[in-house]
Amino acid sequence: MNLYQVFSHSGPLAGNNRRLRHCPQCGLRFADRALARFERQRCGQCGYVHHLNPAPGIVMLVKSPAGEILVGRRRATARYGGKWCLPGGYIEYEESFIDTAHREVREETGLAVRIEGIVNVVSNHLDDCHHTLVIVLLGEALAGRPEPGDDLEELKWIDRRAHGGVDYAFEADQRIVDGYFAGNLRQVPIDARIEPR
Ligand SMILES: [Zn+2]
Repeated sequence: MNLYQVFSHSGPLAGNNRRLRHCPQCGLRFADRALARFERQRCGQCGYVHHLNPAPGIVMLVKSPAGEILVGRRRATARYGGKWCLPGGYIEYEESFIDTAHREVREETGLAVRIEGIVNVVSNHLDDCHHTLVIVLLGEALAGRPEPGDDLEELKWIDRRAHGGVDYAFEADQRIVDGYFAGNLRQVPIDARIEPR
């Protein structure tokens, strides 16, 4: 399995764009000096450490029984509005990535899915404020007609030919769908003992 990375490094001090002015725990004002790469802000009063980590998320290749893939057009008010993407979103605190997948697909497409496995993991550094680590899952839609919701305003099933004409918001999505239609995605199965809810 090739693991994809979409990275645009913007310099050794990029983390300075995500710095805090005050300690979120005790309110002490942090020192106003530049941070070295990977240096963390630490509170001298209460010991709080401000960790900067990528946000974990999932995206889902939802396939139809005929093998088409579901893509959604992003609402004009969303980031990358008007472009197309795979359903997905951020993993909430106290939520498993499997639960996230079911929830996001239901919110954005109205569909229930049977998850088959993990097909990739992607590090995305979109800009200084958006660094994500995305688990890419493959699943098949169960009965139902897709209805767009949340950040998506239109959904469509695409086959291999239609995929070439889709204006994707995220390079990683495009490459994953490329891999699906080229037949070269491999899967890591998910333990069925923890999957059904
Ligand atoms: Zn503090």
